[in-house]
Amino acid sequence: MAFPPGFLDELRARLSLSDVVGRKVSLKRRSGSEHAGLCPFHNEKTPSFTVNDKKGFFHCFGCGVNGDAVGFVMKTEGLSFPESVEKLAREVGLPVPRATPAERERADRAATLQQVAEEAACWFQKQLRLPVGRQGLDYLRGRGLEEATIDDFRLGFAPDTRDGLLAALKREGVPIDKIVEAGLAIQPEDNREAYDRFRGRVMFPISDRRGRVIAFGGRVMGAGEPKYLNSPETPLFHKGANLYCLDRARVAATKDQPVIVAEGYMDVIALHGAGFVGAVAPLGTALTEGQLGELWKLADEPYLCFDGDNAGRRAAARAAERALPLLRAGKSLRFLVLPAGEDPDSLIRVRGADAMRRILDLARPLSDVVWDMETEGKVADTPERRASLQRAVEQRVAEIADPVVRDYYRADMRRRLDLLRRPDRPAWRPGERRFFRSPGPEPAPFAAGSAARRAGTDLDASRQERALLGALIERPALLHILAEDLAALTITNAELGRLRSGLLDALSLAPSGVDPAADEALAEGGAASPSVEAQLIEQHLERSGLQRVAASAQAKAREVFRNDPADADGWVGQWRRAARHLSQLTADPEELKRAEQALAEDSNDENLRRLEEILDRMRRQSIESGTG
Ligand SMILES: [Zn+2]
Repeated sequence: MAFPPGFLDELRARLSLSDVVGRKVSLKRRSGSEHAGLCPFHNEKTPSFTVNDKKGFFHCFGCGVNGDAVGFVMKTEGLSFPESVEKLAREVGLPVPRATPAERERADRAATLQQVAEEAACWFQKQLRLPVGRQGLDYLRGRGLEEATIDDFRLGFAPDTRDGLLAALKREGVPIDKIVEAGLAIQPEDNREAYDRFRGRVMFPISDRRGRVIAFGGRVMGAGEPKYLNSPETPLFHKGANLYCLDRARVAATKDQPVIVAEGYMDVIALHGAGFVGAVAPLGTALTEGQLGELWKLADEPYLCFDGDNAGRRAAARAAERALPLLRAGKSLRFLVLPAGEDPDSLIRVRGADAMRRILDLARPLSDVVWDMETEGKVADTPERRASLQRAVEQRVAEIADPVVRDYYRADMRRRLDLLRRPDRPAWRPGERRFFRSPGPEPAPFAAGSAARRAGTDLDASRQERALLGALIERPALLHILAEDLAALTITNAELGRLRSGLLDALSLAPSGVDPAADEALAEGGAASPSVEAQLIEQHLERSGLQRVAASAQAKAREVFRNDPADADGWVGQWRRAARHLSQLTADPEELKRAEQALAEDSNDENLRRLEEILDRMRRQSIESGTG
């Protein structure tokens, strides 16, 4: 919307910037029209945020942020420019001019409908506290909601009567057609009397981005259908462009809180209660393009949270499909998969906010979900099947409209497809490993108390190989994370080489949906609980006649690996350090001796190059591991 010339000047003239800023920041007057306070946009202990009333500008000498009153509202409340202007204009009692009569009429109509929705919200809230709302209140309390939360989210109750709300609003003088237009009552076509849309339901008011009630979601009491009923599309309410609690998430996002999309209203409320104030939910439909657009305005990589069951998996796939054509550089999604049978509400109630935080840390990138969509449940054991899989993956990636993002996806998927091939030898050269760098000095990768250490000898290569493989069998969730590293390991022992191939094969057969319960156990440094994955791997190893070597590897892993890695990157870091340690052992001295001997016997260029390569690799490895 364009504002007529002079309007913004008039607005700025009526505003006191220090008043606007003063609602969020405690300001002290410095001189005349200048105030100072602690900057709301960066962390500081001494005030470098200044507000100049005369100029109408704020400026921070710490982080450089600056702007006027409209800019301040945009930045701190996550509103758009016209929204911020309207908000400020309302505060100073300045009528917002509408460009055309049609626009003016639309605005007036929306304002009327919004008032109707607001009155309905108040009435529903009141019913919840009356005897008629007892059932609703019991339900909310039974779900563990505190009184303050019930009030904060303005939860209410629609009694199971034909025209409770209608009658109440009519008494207030609201015309029936407005009540129908606001989506609160249904007018039968045959001109019988209108009746309440929401009956016998706990009511969740849905707000616009400025926090004004525009619609409702109602949860049925008992076993009725549908379980959740939402307001229909109205001049105020467009499901596809709004989200439950979007208004709150906008504010949260300005404070760098993670934006989390949950499935249900109760999930959102539980997440807010646990401190995740950027939580939102779609309004009874799968995520729409419009909603993705809103989410990407708030965060580059919003988190989508799905239940750990099949329905949740399908919902994740739908969201991924919807997002692919819309991806742009820097804009993506991250996926949280909850343990089977859990939603955020139950997870937080039973296991607390920390469990949710851990699951956030384990979020999977969109590329993982896309890969799963095309490969899950498929067997890639013949060239033809691998080719078919590759074609499916490539077709999916082709849906990405942005050419740069699409190229990176192609490369990522090609790498994953390469991993499906049985890796008899390392797929890339040691110097090219991307995951092997860790800053700072290297802690000893193995448990200080292990028998070999006590005896004063180092573990030989094959023992380490055995332990590394065993650790992955013990903790199948690690296998997904470390598959590339596993494929790149140099393994000298033939039997263990077969075990490595068996594990990678099992991985290509297993659904790669990470079991969050297992991941959680991992994050805590403990062993994973048995998962579907673990069972699949076990079966596969058994079928391949590898169970004996697998058992010995597991025993070695238990002996060698610390069970409580103190470092932040935990198990994965410990495993990678051990793998790096092993690569140093395997580079010398046998290989070196052989190369030297070959060169002595036949001093051709090929043998010289080979020896130089080994020496070069050893040098690089010693630099990489911080010992050189
Ligand atoms: Zn600042």
